[in-house]
Amino acid sequence: MAKAKESLNPFEVARKQIDRAGQKLSLDPGLLQILKHPRRELTVNFPVKMDDGSVKVFTGYRVQYNDARGPYKGGIRYHWNVSIDEVRALACWMTWKCAVMDIPYGGAKGGVICNPKEMSKGELERLTRRYASEISIVIGPEKDIPAPDVYTDSQTMAWIMDTISMHTGYSVPGVVTGKPLAIGGSLGRDEATARGAMYATREACKKLKLNTKGATVAVQGYGNAGYHYARLTHDELGCKIVAVSDSKGGIYSDKGLDPREVAAYKEKTGSVVGFPGTKKITNEELLELEVDILGPCALENVITSENAPRIKAKVSAEGANGPTTPEADDILFKKGVLVIPDILANGGGVTVSYFEWVQGLANFFWTKKEVDEKLEGVCVRAFDSVWKLSQEKKIDMRQAAYMVAISRVVEAYKWRGIWP
Ligand code: NDP
Repeated sequence: MAKAKESLNPFEVARKQIDRAGQKLSLDPGLLQILKHPRRELTVNFPVKMDDGSVKVFTGYRVQYNDARGPYKGGIRYHWNVSIDEVRALACWMTWKCAVMDIPYGGAKGGVICNPKEMSKGELERLTRRYASEISIVIGPEKDIPAPDVYTDSQTMAWIMDTISMHTGYSVPGVVTGKPLAIGGSLGRDEATARGAMYATREACKKLKLNTKGATVAVQGYGNAGYHYARLTHDELGCKIVAVSDSKGGIYSDKGLDPREVAAYKEKTGSVVGFPGTKKITNEELLELEVDILGPCALENVITSENAPRIKAKVSAEGANGPTTPEADDILFKKGVLVIPDILANGGGVTVSYFEWVQGLANFFWTKKEVDEKLEGVCVRAFDSVWKLSQEKKIDMRQAAYMVAISRVVEAYKWRGIWP
């Protein structure tokens, strides 16, 4: 990771972003204080029986940031670097994401400090079920609805749904989204984050008069967000994917990569690195490539004041949450790089999570075409509102997105009032 002068504490970054937008909106200081604090935080320390017979204690969190606009919503991350400040930041970003996409949810996030790559499926199931049980006192279909995030997937969601259902005595599919189709998942949820990012990229390129056909793309991270982003920009926008990466490093080919073939290779070998006909590059080098479109789709703080001056892409579509620091934002804005901020670029995921929840509550499921059309409508509307404000105020897209989102949350407070 790049060395930088600025704070890389994600929650400090998140609060700085609120201050910036708050100033522009001339927010009441009391309201600003509310928006800078998570409402409720739960820390759980719980034991898991490991395969070798030992017992290990894990720490997990669920942070419920703000529910002024609706039930809390946000994913669950399994990673060795999970910390309370990271979960707070991710929960905070979820609040603005749901508001900017105009979905009737608040923001939350969960995480467990663990290394899922070193755990067996049985250990992961026991960890997930016990964590779900510990946080069952705060989650539920009407109050807080988790979803997948880094190193969790539809299987994790199925275990959580089953655990909560066993506690309740009947099936409660609405407690999580991102479920497998067989138990109430939505068509299109697996690729939704990336599909939303693809629509946002398409809209951004239209504004810049950049032809997406043949436009070069580099994608960092090759999981749910990154793989589908590479595939969809390739298939539906005609882009040329020249570089992709995962936690083990990156690959480059000026001839272009077939995203599906790379995924099949990763499936077999565990990494994109070594894909035939490519040059090995580092994750840092990938970000600085001479490409039209950059898709940071892995983790936070990868674009800082240190490497921002060397970013050459015209558009950066943030599939990941928090990949760019505020200081880097200023540098990129001055350089004319159009950053589509995380809360807008990756909002397709929570949008289809919302569709899944709605379909489940109504027990009426939509076709993939219906899901995609509805998603496109939400993404284009959100992009347009942010673009318009950024042009009017001559500010970057992140500040505009925060202004749109925070105004909507403030409007909710205006009507609800401060209790009692
Ligand atoms: P996944 O677990 O599916 O994939 C994560 C990917 O990132 C993997 O390819 C992983 O590599 C790679 N990675 C991990 N560490 C590094 C590193 N240090 N450098 C480069 N690559 C790395 O997670 P998601 O795709 O779901 O999440 C990625 C980002 O997208 C996160 O910021 C998440 O919050 C955000 N996001 C996800 C949503 C979703 O619906 N899933 C919704 C909105 C945002 P490897 O394969 O080698 O492990």
